Amino acid sequence: MSDRDEKKLSQETAEDLPVNFIQSIISQDLQSGKNQGRVHTRFPPEPNGYLHIGHAKSICLNFGLAAANGGLCNLRFDDTNPSKEETEYVESIKENVRWLGFDWDDRLYYASDYFDQLYEFACQLIKEGKAYVCDLSAEEIREYRGTLTEPGRESPYRNRSVEENLDLFERMKNGEFPDGARVLRAKIDMASPNLNMRDPVLYRIQHSHHHRTGDKWCIYPMYDYAHPLSDALESITHSICTLEFADHRPLYDWCVENVDYDKETHGRPQQIEFARLNLTYTVMSKRKLRLLVEKGLVRGWDDPRMPTIAGLRRRGYTPEAIRDFCERIGVAKRNSTVDIALLEHCIREDLNQRAPRVMAVLRPLKVVITNYPENQVEWLTTENNAEQPEMGTREIPFTRELYIEQEDFMEDPPKKFFRLRPGGEVRLKSAYIIQCQEVIKDDQGQIIELHCTYDPDSKSGGPNANRRVKGTLHWVSAQHAIPAEVRLYDHLFLKENPDDDEEEGADFTSFINPHSLEILTESLVEPSLASAPVESRYQFLRQGYFVVDPDKTNGKLVFNRIVGLRDTWAKIKSKEG
Ligand code: ATP
Ligand code: MG
Repeated sequence: MSDRDEKKLSQETAEDLPVNFIQSIISQDLQSGKNQGRVHTRFPPEPNGYLHIGHAKSICLNFGLAAANGGLCNLRFDDTNPSKEETEYVESIKENVRWLGFDWDDRLYYASDYFDQLYEFACQLIKEGKAYVCDLSAEEIREYRGTLTEPGRESPYRNRSVEENLDLFERMKNGEFPDGARVLRAKIDMASPNLNMRDPVLYRIQHSHHHRTGDKWCIYPMYDYAHPLSDALESITHSICTLEFADHRPLYDWCVENVDYDKETHGRPQQIEFARLNLTYTVMSKRKLRLLVEKGLVRGWDDPRMPTIAGLRRRGYTPEAIRDFCERIGVAKRNSTVDIALLEHCIREDLNQRAPRVMAVLRPLKVVITNYPENQVEWLTTENNAEQPEMGTREIPFTRELYIEQEDFMEDPPKKFFRLRPGGEVRLKSAYIIQCQEVIKDDQGQIIELHCTYDPDSKSGGPNANRRVKGTLHWVSAQHAIPAEVRLYDHLFLKENPDDDEEEGADFTSFINPHSLEILTESLVEPSLASAPVESRYQFLRQGYFVVDPDKTNGKLVFNRIVGLRDTWAKIKSKEG
């Protein structure tokens, strides 16, 4: 973590945090002396995909609340479903959490660390008559469960003896039965108004290889059983999860209450639900993100259009901007969708402060200054960030042949076009005023270059330095410019809520924006960027914020546009205000 990050995190004391309802609960608990004044949270990803911006919200919340309250936060992999999990995901998740600026110290855990313990707990439940082995098929279990309006029916296996249950459960563990033949169920209440309490399944048979425990187990605990008990064993105080688990809370509490772990030492974790993050023009579920990757609709999990942490990072987002975003959206009890313009606003604010300004011409048009001496090179001084003078200045080369942006010249412009036109004048940023004398075209009538003259007195320090012309353009010296590929991005989806009409059978991939990636292969950047390192970020004057991509196309630098300069969020806000 950089000094800057460290400072920012340590400054986030409880007083600074916008008070959210979870902080209020924690504050009350601290005041009443609950959990002996301890605050201990965890971030519990399932290692079955890459993390996305929704997970970032959960990470910021869990690590942030712990830090703000003098507590601890664990990283725990919820690896109870071996068929879908992989070590590759474990590594990427750890890297993502670290990159976001958080540290679990030595508190890295896996639910699979507790498999032995969880098995012991299950045997105990059986001995106390609180769990039984059930031979109904998955479909029968569903049938017997009843509905919201009808109570369930008891399984014919519900009243097996403790001895029989213990024997069968052990044999399940020993691999004597095929997948799906039997399950272990909690014996709770088949008439409960909460379907989760109608004898939920605690263990299933699954003969599959686990990325950590190998082939040791062929029965695996269900999430609803493993999760509360993992929390308990780690002495978690506040177990923060998303709203869809609210209906599971009674089962969470049942497990904590009925399993005989050392409550004196570990206390009782409390589940608290908050609304998950949804973003406009984006899908967020791992399943859908995986589909985009597998169908080749994006270039990979770290495609800069993906809402994954890896994608946002490659796009050029900073951890500071993402943390700022997570803080601004706050936590609520009701699901809602956040405007993606707010995320873009956060990175723009961050980079506006610290990104050096440089000149890059995305779609070049050649300009020859006919009255400028051939072979002359003048190194002109320009500021690195006009808003941050302490960022200093640099020298840029001016020569007879330059490039400007194609769209900065129009032969027959409308009235308010303040850029270059035949006979018109503009200032070249930190250089001279030029006037367009002649438009050179090829056989097809395409403009290939402009012949201009310059006013030698118009540069900084000269007698005409303050002569006013309407437009100022960015430019690069033809001789010095460095060829680059520039990738421009737009929203991945055309629709604000691409998964809205799913129930009606709409396929979210049909709303993909076919123009979400535009690749410019002829761009030119100023020579100071020659050895710009991967992940360095710049403002290209008048074009937006860009980051150096790890790719090199034919040895050329590749830049991703992070965001344009226009702040649509600020506009939305001012309209509302
Ligand atoms: P998905 O639905 O995208 O597959 P998940 O909930 O299955 O996500 P997990 O790996 O189980 O993914 O999530 C780890 C943690 O991140 C959980 O505590 C979960 O509640 C939280 N989380 C997941 N998605 C979001 C989201 N969109 N907003 C906030 N928190 C989220
Ligand atoms: Mg999950």
